[in-house]
Formats: sequence, structure tokens, C-alpha cells
Amino acid sequence: MGAFVASDSKTVNSERRLLCVVAHPDDETFGSGSTLIKYAAEGASVFTSCATRGDVGEIADRSDATPETLSAVREQEYYDAGKVMGVKQSILYGFRDSGMAGSPDNDHPNAYIKVPMDEVVAKVVDTIRELKPQVVFTFDEGGGYGHPDHIHASEATKLAYFAAGDPSYEGSTLEPWKPSKLYYHGFPRSMMRKWFAAFAEADPDSDLAKLDPEEMGVPDETLTTELDISAHAETRRKAIEVHQTQYSPLDRMPSPELEADFLNTDFFIRVDPPLADGESGIVETDLFEGLGI
Ligand SMILES: [Zn+2]
Repeated sequence: MGAFVASDSKTVNSERRLLCVVAHPDDETFGSGSTLIKYAAEGASVFTSCATRGDVGEIADRSDATPETLSAVREQEYYDAGKVMGVKQSILYGFRDSGMAGSPDNDHPNAYIKVPMDEVVAKVVDTIRELKPQVVFTFDEGGGYGHPDHIHASEATKLAYFAAGDPSYEGSTLEPWKPSKLYYHGFPRSMMRKWFAAFAEADPDSDLAKLDPEEMGVPDETLTTELDISAHAETRRKAIEVHQTQYSPLDRMPSPELEADFLNTDFFIRVDPPLADGESGIVETDLFEGLGI
């Protein structure tokens, strides 16, 4: 019987722990929500940490939130969406949203991007040491579409990933924990080109049409990991709906084909361990591949 129990316990993957580090309430759902849903559904403990309360984000027409209530409403949306996705713990650090690149909020004295990197890294190290994830992921180095908070969170997460397992790191009093794998979530640039061409065709004067797709997402050839998330589209739609203050990415989908791209596949760049010499392209279909859990 023992052998069967061991085998069964492996198939539910209850030892797996995954941490997703983002900057604003909604990033965890709009960016890579189906990956969180997939691993939670398979029995993993899934955690998110979010740097800000999205204080200066847009307010969608359908929401009753005001600029004064936005941060509190978005904080609740973050917790509620986490519950829909099966997230075990949704952590929020409460830094101030820095706003889009070039906006006056960038210069607010409490803006997240003004917080010294050491301080941000220490928060993420504490989270990693407390939750002991084997796998950590965050934004790519360009923040998906250049948002300064995303770039700040990506850099902090990479530094924290390595510091968390380092006994000589002085920024945390918790016991060291060394995660096994670090990923950047990435939207393939080939998909961005299709999206933005369609946006520009539909409305040449829209803000989206003015963005340069060559600066969005990541080059396809840098992607290493491809997840089939198609089974989780309906739960993803529900979690997206929870973020009522934000315009749904599904409402801006220019075609059913592009919506299917968005809902069926998530892509990642494996940062650590790096690919072996001679390896390139998509080499994995599971973030926990090779860990034996
Ligand atoms: Zn964001």
C-alpha cells in the first residue's frame, strides 16, 4: 500500500509551492492568472505578493470607485480574485503606485519606484523565506509593457530570489530558503504585433494604437517555457471580472483568435537555472519540471 500512497501523493503535487510577485492588484490575474489557477487546481500552494494598492490606476466606467476610494477597492479586488483563482495567500506590501511612465505620480515621495531597492528586496526575501516556494516568477525585465513599477518589481524579485538562500544576507532575520527556479512571465512579441496591428486598425487614434509593439512583451526566441492553460479559461474570466475598477483585457481583444492566444497559453523565460549550452527555444511545459515534486 505504501508505494501506492507515495505515488498518489505525487500526482496531487501537494508539495509544490509557487510564488508570483507583481506590482498592482490585477497584474496577478490579467497577466498570468491561468498559471496560478492551473497550479492551484493541481494541488500546489500558490501565493502572490503585490507591491502597491494600485492607488493611481484608471477607474473603469462600470465601477463606483472614486480616486479617494480606489486603493481600498482595488486591494479588496486583489484578495477576492485570489480566492476565485485558488490562491492560498495574497500578500500586499502597500507601497504607493508610481503611475505610468512619465506621469507626475512618478515623482511622489512615496512612489514605489522611489523606495530604495534594498528595502523592496528585503520585503520579497521575507516573503520567500516565510512561504518557501520552489518556484518564483515575476514580470520580464521590461515589465511587459514598460510600466516603471513592473520593472522595479522584476529587478527586486531577481535580487531577492538569490538573496533568500544566502545565509550572509543581512536584510532579513528569517531562516534562509533557497528556491529552485526563477522565471519571468512574458508575452511573445509576435502576439503583441498582432494585437497592436488590430488595435491600430480598429481605432487609429486610441492610446493603444500609439504604443510601439516592438517595445512590448519579449522576443519570442527568449521564451523557454510554454504552459497549456486552456482548461482554466472560464475561471480566468471570473477572476478578471472581479477587478471591476479595471478595464477587462478581454473587452479590448480585437479578435476571437487573439483572445484564444491570450487564454490558451502562458509563456515564461527561465532565468535560473539558466539553459544548458546548446539548449534554446521552448524546453519545458511545466514550471516544476525537473524538481521531482
Ligand atoms: Zn501593473
